[in-house]
Amino acid sequence: MSEVKAKVNAVSPKSTNTQSTNQARPFSYQGRSLACSGVSLESLAQKFGTPLYVYSGDQILERRNLFAREFAGVDHTVCYAVKANSSLAILKLLAQSGTGFDIVSGGELERVLRVSKDAAKRVVFSGVGKQAAEMDLALKAGILMFNVESEAELELLAERAAKLKKKARIALRVNPDVFAETHPYISTGLREHKFGIDIRIARKVYRRAAKKQWLEPAGVSVHIGSQIRSTEPFGSALARVVDLVKQLRTDGLNIRYVDAGGGLGPGRFFVAQAGTLLSRVLYTKVNGTKTFVITDAAMNDLIRPALYQAHHEILPVKQSMSKKTIVADIVGPVCESGDFFARDRELPAVKSGDLVALLDAGAYGMSLASNYNTRSRVAEVLVRNGKTKRIRRRETVDEMLTQEVL
Ligand SMILES: *Cc1c(COP(=O)(O)O)cnc(C)c1O
Repeated sequence: MSEVKAKVNAVSPKSTNTQSTNQARPFSYQGRSLACSGVSLESLAQKFGTPLYVYSGDQILERRNLFAREFAGVDHTVCYAVKANSSLAILKLLAQSGTGFDIVSGGELERVLRVSKDAAKRVVFSGVGKQAAEMDLALKAGILMFNVESEAELELLAERAAKLKKKARIALRVNPDVFAETHPYISTGLREHKFGIDIRIARKVYRRAAKKQWLEPAGVSVHIGSQIRSTEPFGSALARVVDLVKQLRTDGLNIRYVDAGGGLGPGRFFVAQAGTLLSRVLYTKVNGTKTFVITDAAMNDLIRPALYQAHHEILPVKQSMSKKTIVADIVGPVCESGDFFARDRELPAVKSGDLVALLDAGAYGMSLASNYNTRSRVAEVLVRNGKTKRIRRRETVDEMLTQEVL
């Protein structure tokens, strides 16, 4: 595997183990007060209100560089999955460091182009439902590669490329039929999933693609899921990809890229630990045997616990002198029983008015936020080199209602 890997460019080589790093966490106590890269979270809550997403730009770049260092020996492009956190200021930070982007919609491409026209040549476009207008946008922008997920998509892309007279470099996203131990909603590498093309018929589809004048088979792509904690499934998937690359080269195709997908790697790897959702406790109450802590943040701000049963560490922003703890459900104000951040969690006794920080919320937090219950999407701030910048205003009610017609 390593032999072939050394000869191909890895578009998104993502075999770094997230556990293997022992850097300082970006959110830590200074004295008894929680801070983001040295900036007090209490002061940020006072200045910008809550709920509030707070990111450490320093940490994002550190993780990005750590990742790139692991692949220093291989010709590679690191591509950040925009869907993990698509806020423009974060994309800009990454674009400035030469990072590429893995996009899944025309909208995400517009975001990338908004922060850097030059970054288009480091963009790969994945997704099972690409539409003609999105393909046209990507062809005109001159992206690095389309990860094609079906034969029907291949036909449409060939048509659009011919129409615009723009060569489309393609990889087939193959489905390696590998099981990855993770939550079923974020596992993607089995034949029963909607993603990719069955690896057993890929060679035939590549042959067909090679006959199209405006398509250029240039890579093979694979993405087996997210939050995978062992390297074993990546090994199995890539072994199958390497076999395919060898066959395709025998067929005379110039396969130069292997896109190894995400899962341990970008985007979660860069942004997850770099972000916290800061929230204020509204009330505490006891119903029968259960204690509830009700926060001003809710599932519309951070849906991961409800959607993926994700675990988020919850810390009080001010550590109290007392060692008293409670066991409680931490919940939001939304009218759904699924609106919780933690259940039966032991945490230091908090009371109305206290601030709490939900850690590891930088990935798939804000990018999945909604207006459910007509709640405004929250503000975001980025801390970099000890300086704080608000990168998104809190949405107003007028902004929420502006598209509606009476
Ligand atoms: C979501 C996704 C990624 C990134 O996954 P992470 O778990 O954030 O690393 C990479 N590639 C594709 C095709 C994806 O859909």
